[in-house]
Amino acid sequence: MKLAKRYGNQKPSGMVRIFQAIEKMTAEDNPPLNLSIGEPDFVTEPDIVDAAARSAKEGFTHYPPLPGFSDLREAVCAYWERHHGLKANPAEVYISVGGLHAAWLILQALLNPGDEVLLFEPYFTPYADQIRGNGGVPVTIRTREENGFAPTPEELRAAATPRTRGILLNSPGNPSGRVLSRKQMEEIAAFAQARDLFVLSDEIYESMVYGGSHTCFAALPGMKERTVLVGGVSKSHCMTGWRLGYVIAPVNLVQMLCVNSTFQTYGVNTLAQKAACYALNTQDTKIRERSAVFAARMRAVEERLNAMKGIKCHPAEGAFYLFPNVSGTGLSSEEFTWRLLQEAGVAVLPGSAFGAAGEGYIRIACTQSQETLMAAMEKMESFTRALL
Ligand code: PMP
Repeated sequence: MKLAKRYGNQKPSGMVRIFQAIEKMTAEDNPPLNLSIGEPDFVTEPDIVDAAARSAKEGFTHYPPLPGFSDLREAVCAYWERHHGLKANPAEVYISVGGLHAAWLILQALLNPGDEVLLFEPYFTPYADQIRGNGGVPVTIRTREENGFAPTPEELRAAATPRTRGILLNSPGNPSGRVLSRKQMEEIAAFAQARDLFVLSDEIYESMVYGGSHTCFAALPGMKERTVLVGGVSKSHCMTGWRLGYVIAPVNLVQMLCVNSTFQTYGVNTLAQKAACYALNTQDTKIRERSAVFAARMRAVEERLNAMKGIKCHPAEGAFYLFPNVSGTGLSSEEFTWRLLQEAGVAVLPGSAFGAAGEGYIRIACTQSQETLMAAMEKMESFTRALL
């Protein structure tokens, strides 16, 4: 079938090629130890599943309200006030099909053709395509490890043009695991204010911050009216498969998202909404417990990585990713990743799949048991020893 011209040159990304290779190896009965997956290994808690089943039996099987059920929107507000001090009301909340679709809908509603959006490299791969797919132009700023993968005010100023409309922010960040400090956030806020920019703040990993604390961008003074917060229950509540995310934004944007929903999804799965509502109201202790498990895993992997020749790993700050620098091995990100997969049976992602600034790094997801992670480190250690 003839595809639209705009998709004619679409090739699988560096990330998708690895996923395809993992699938092939698994089908051939040779599954790698898979440290490439960006989702918690924990299954959804049984009481959350029960809440969904209960709601189905109670008759919540019809189309949902377009912005989402009001009890869920209230639960989102209560969660963000309780955890991050953000004051929002349900009219400012839109429930989406995961955080990923939320970002697409937001960019669709905000961008005019040619509008530039600042994106900090390395970035969550879909974002550049999402900006382009909605008529915008991604303008990347290459961040560096020595600055904690944060842009400096000078770099922000140098990247801005009269066409700059917005900033795409993601802290805790995928793939670098960096957490922007309050001061760094404030510098970005001052820049956004001075240039009158919107800020799409992807805070999907807000519940996983080790050491410091998460700064909610919208909660910074004066930022709420220019910020669109993206969150969700995929990571915090181990509910990736439920496809449930949300937006906290000015009311006129929420209303536009509802209008667009009428010709796209017509709301979000009712049972997933009921499960998420229950989850947001009841799982704070579980979140803390899992966060401690991720922190311990990351510390253990980081220690092993730093003992390997040619590898340097900065401390884990947030999310569940480590982003070690492997350039000391003499291999590029892609070479390292493919050889590690083929020669040692360990799957990670090349840093270059997240933009050019990721070259020299690999992304390791600590989303497997401690035992699997340590077995993978054992194999990686032998692999790197043989290289040097
Ligand atoms: N933002 C970031 C930074 C992510 O890593 C992910 C998932 N990998 C998402 C958004 C999307 O999450 P979901 O659609 O499952 O809510």
